[in-house]
Amino acid sequence: MSAIAFKEYLDTSDLATWHRLTDSARRVVIVGHASPDGDAMGSALALALALQRDGRQVKVMMPNAFPDFLAWLPGAGEVLNAEYHKKTAHAVLAEADLLCCLDFNALHRTEWLTPQLERTTCPRLMIDHHLKPDFRGDLLVSDSGASSTCEIVFSLLWQLGEFQKASREVAECLYCGMMTDTGGFTYNSNRPILFQIIAELLAKGIDKDRIYRNVYHSYSFNRMRLQGYILYEKLVYFEEAHAALFTLTRDEMKSFQFKKGDAEGLVNLPLQIKGTRLCISLREDTEQPLIRVSLRSVDDYKCNVLAERFFNGGGHANAAGGRLEMTMDEAVEVARQAIAAFGEEQKEQETGTKV
Ligand code: 5GP
Ligand code: MN
Repeated sequence: MSAIAFKEYLDTSDLATWHRLTDSARRVVIVGHASPDGDAMGSALALALALQRDGRQVKVMMPNAFPDFLAWLPGAGEVLNAEYHKKTAHAVLAEADLLCCLDFNALHRTEWLTPQLERTTCPRLMIDHHLKPDFRGDLLVSDSGASSTCEIVFSLLWQLGEFQKASREVAECLYCGMMTDTGGFTYNSNRPILFQIIAELLAKGIDKDRIYRNVYHSYSFNRMRLQGYILYEKLVYFEEAHAALFTLTRDEMKSFQFKKGDAEGLVNLPLQIKGTRLCISLREDTEQPLIRVSLRSVDDYKCNVLAERFFNGGGHANAAGGRLEMTMDEAVEVARQAIAAFGEEQKEQETGTKV
């Protein structure tokens, strides 16, 4: 028996709710956010594996495709891409007797699937680590201090006595989400409990080195060349603000045979330039006429505040995003304004005076 006290998210009344919702549920649907990442996929699949017993059917559904580098996740092959299988998704949701919303704080993060989820009449629960959850349902487990939804799912399973019974596959899914949401444990990952959880996951027999390679060493030749192109041709560096910016257009993506997920991680790269505090990327969406914005920052600078103020978005302190419905040229102008505001703020802090 371990003496470590993991966080207990459910009080007595929540525990009763959890059991009321799950014990009787025969058809469970677990849904993650649009453009699912390692945490959305990992947490959904881990919970699915843990709930999948006693004849209970559990379906993991994502609003659209997940990137190829997550295809190794146990159960990924059975994930329903609701965008490609609209009728099935509709039927599965209509029959569900429990809807679990994972790794998003508001239904609109499922984008086009939102109205369908709103129409469901079955009980709902949400497990998430984003700020300001906006949720109407039966049970909300929200902790913006957690590294990832996977971390919360781990603690829930532990509290419920389910982790002891959980398989290596569950541990692999949980590790994946914790790893990807912390950039391979390079940000938002200084809490000792994180590594105590990892110790428990390793004890299940996971190969964390292989998981790292599966996720981060899975580039195509074209993806590698795209990275080189962005760093060499596209990166703009703002020396004074210690900030970086780059754009990526559809035409450029086409010339590198861009595949979903190929943009993942690019925004982190300029942070490797010594002293860099902020990086913003602007990427034309491959389907809709909008610009997808990604922001990364270091230390205690909260780029989600910048994402809210300038980019109609939000997210975490060091990893945030948003969207702009405008041309790329206009978006670059907004990003320059954001960087100018960021630079001013930095200056104020450095000099300790208001400008
Ligand atoms: P990424 O840059 O990897 O696309 O997104 C990083 C983080 O920013 C995500 O985990 C998510 O929390 C947040 N994020 C991305 N796009 C949006 C958005 O449009 N709205 C909000 N509120 N958050 C976003
Ligand atoms: Mn997450």
